[in-house]
Amino acid sequence: MRLDAAELAKKLDVEKVSGLLDIPEHRITGALKRKTIQYVRAKLELFRFDKPISSVEGGTSVFIKPFDIVRGFPKISRTLMLYPALSKHFSPLGKVAVEEKLNGYNVRVALIGDELVALTRGGFICPYTTEKANDLINRQFFLDHPELVLCGEMVGPDSPYVPKSFYGIESLEFFAFDIREKISGKPMPVMKRRALLEEYGIKSVRLFGEFDVDKAHIAITGIIKEFGDTLREGVVIKDLQMILPSVKYTSSLSNCADLRYAFEFYNDFGRDFFFGRVCREAFQSVEWDEDEAQMKKRCQQLGESILLPMVRTIKKKKAGERIAENVQIRVKSLDTVKEFEEYLRLVGVDAVFEEPQKIGDEYLVRIKRINQSTNDKTESILSGQLWS
Ligand code: ATP
Ligand code: MG
Repeated sequence: MRLDAAELAKKLDVEKVSGLLDIPEHRITGALKRKTIQYVRAKLELFRFDKPISSVEGGTSVFIKPFDIVRGFPKISRTLMLYPALSKHFSPLGKVAVEEKLNGYNVRVALIGDELVALTRGGFICPYTTEKANDLINRQFFLDHPELVLCGEMVGPDSPYVPKSFYGIESLEFFAFDIREKISGKPMPVMKRRALLEEYGIKSVRLFGEFDVDKAHIAITGIIKEFGDTLREGVVIKDLQMILPSVKYTSSLSNCADLRYAFEFYNDFGRDFFFGRVCREAFQSVEWDEDEAQMKKRCQQLGESILLPMVRTIKKKKAGERIAENVQIRVKSLDTVKEFEEYLRLVGVDAVFEEPQKIGDEYLVRIKRINQSTNDKTESILSGQLWS
């Protein structure tokens, strides 16, 4: 059953949402018509913002029953050169906190009525992440603070979105990096947040320290160089009071790892994805004042990250293989597998699930994510099609 815009507007309670989020009513009804606000029928009914509207972030979810709102997670700008960007962005005489940027996937966890749900960046409830969140996070936090949302990164090998094994995590872990008010999105100051999380035994991302803004670039360069070849992603630099927006900065090795991954599935990624990552290398090389040998090494790493995976993909296709990404999930309940399969279908991900394998009291399920666009493009060129 499809609902038309008028029925959706009635379901959403446009007046209430307009008041709470400070968006004019006509913009909400317009967004419903254009499907910038989309109705999602799942375990809990919700409306999700596909894009930002006024000053409200994309990925915002509005729940119907019980009524509730969880604001989307804001975009974090990136600095390509630490100096002088940090002094310009933050108060030059103040201090910043530098936390580790973990490479997993973003999740917001909140109590809606009496259900603890995990939301993806896009504002969908992910059934797999929801099972994990219920398992990993002390529920008492939400019972004591039902008005708050916990924002964090899900990290580890049993990740259907960003599987990483180099952190030494066995399955999947949650690391919090933000506590915000659900409806306003207002963040809690860094140290207060870390102390509160500790009280509830909830893991936080690593804190490297507090640094004077005018010297932070030296400390951060040191931290990134210390990462060496560990593939750790980078840092997020934060205003201690969380009034100014945070800024991210990442290492070259993790940048190249992203490129290696993306060029394997080159036609499934937007071209912006590649361009920005090449620019980062150029600016970092200049900021680090590299000599010829260091620069040559960087060029080689960058080039190999781009060409080798792509050549591998073409050869694979030539040998008749299908281009796909292997991921896996580990669950307690087989219902979660079914719900997760439905969820991937809902968000348009093409995936093939293998039979669940019982391991202890859990099930391991291997999933092949099919990168259709890369398959089609490679095949067509191999069979003689012109590039454009
Ligand atoms: P964005 O729109 O925020 O730039 P993106 O998909 O390009 O998103 P990233 O480049 O991974 O994402 O950088 C931002 C993301 O980093 C956040 O959305 C969050 O999931 C993740 N993250 C990891 N560690 C932290 C941290 N310590 N503080 C804040 N965010 C962190
Ligand atoms: Mg990320």
